[in-house]
Amino acid sequence: MDRYARQVLLSQIGEGGQQALEDSSVVVVGCGALGSSIAEHLTRAGVGDILVVDRDFIELSNLQRQHLFTEADVGEPKAEITEARLKAVNSDISITGVVDDVTCRNVEHYIKNRDLVLDGTDNLDVRFLLNDACNKNKTPLIFGACVAVHGMSMSILPEGPCLRCLFPQIPPPDSIPTCDTVGIINTLPTVVSSMQSTEAIKYLVSGQLDSRLLVMDVWERDFRTIEVSQRKSCPCCVDHTYEYLEGRALDAAVVCGRNAVHLSPPYEMSLSLDDLADSLSSRGTVRKTPHILFFTRDAETFSIFPDGRAVIKGTNDAKKAQSLYKEYVEKYVKEKYK
Ligand SMILES: [Zn+2]
Repeated sequence: MDRYARQVLLSQIGEGGQQALEDSSVVVVGCGALGSSIAEHLTRAGVGDILVVDRDFIELSNLQRQHLFTEADVGEPKAEITEARLKAVNSDISITGVVDDVTCRNVEHYIKNRDLVLDGTDNLDVRFLLNDACNKNKTPLIFGACVAVHGMSMSILPEGPCLRCLFPQIPPPDSIPTCDTVGIINTLPTVVSSMQSTEAIKYLVSGQLDSRLLVMDVWERDFRTIEVSQRKSCPCCVDHTYEYLEGRALDAAVVCGRNAVHLSPPYEMSLSLDDLADSLSSRGTVRKTPHILFFTRDAETFSIFPDGRAVIKGTNDAKKAQSLYKEYVEKYVKEKYK
């Protein structure tokens, strides 16, 4: 218990609380500035079982604010480096890093049997997906976000209010500022992740969570909490319909700086690339390797994978890419598998 002596002294935690932390199991989704810091706090606090899921690789521009990583880690997967580093910090707990993209197909697998889900992501699509999956599975979610000098955090309980009470719809991608467009001060994620981690520890030892929204401007030293009311028509926490989890939308992500869009279909599929190549051969140029089908028409080249994912090169327009996908891939799938 020496390791935890200073927090066992806390009247809010004590030996009972420490035992509760050791018996707890959480998942941190996203391992950038928020997620890596949350994972570190919870590792040092002795949370017994921590899963970290992240798809990204460490870049030099991350080092300004992501404390777990060093220059030698550039190019390595964040989830793997986080696991290795935090195992060296606390060998008494279980910490696992998984390199994966959290989607509507696998999100429930990752949150299943976890006491708590922590949002360390940097985009609203995954947050709305977590919001749906957590509500459906009755698992609390601690949301956090930061950009420039502004941060926010809110704990979301199964009974609501939820993220969709706060933001009814995902705004168009270019309408909201991101760290890539307006930057971020490096002290901000530390504050937001500390608030999220405190809420996590509090919940795991006491079952209490504060569902008010915390908003802050660290430059102006302005912190406030705001009551969020439940929207009567909230599709998630009132109607329990899970639009993001059910994946009604074909997910399209513009690949930064590459004039390409990555598309993930909303359902599982196993495509025959040979059959698809036959059906596309009259409509453009087709080339195939065992695992990828390349299809070129006009200015665009599709790389299509057997699980239905595709990368369309030659456009930065997500909507155009979605309609191209529907025209050339989905139509074929519907005819073939209807
Ligand atoms: Zn709601």
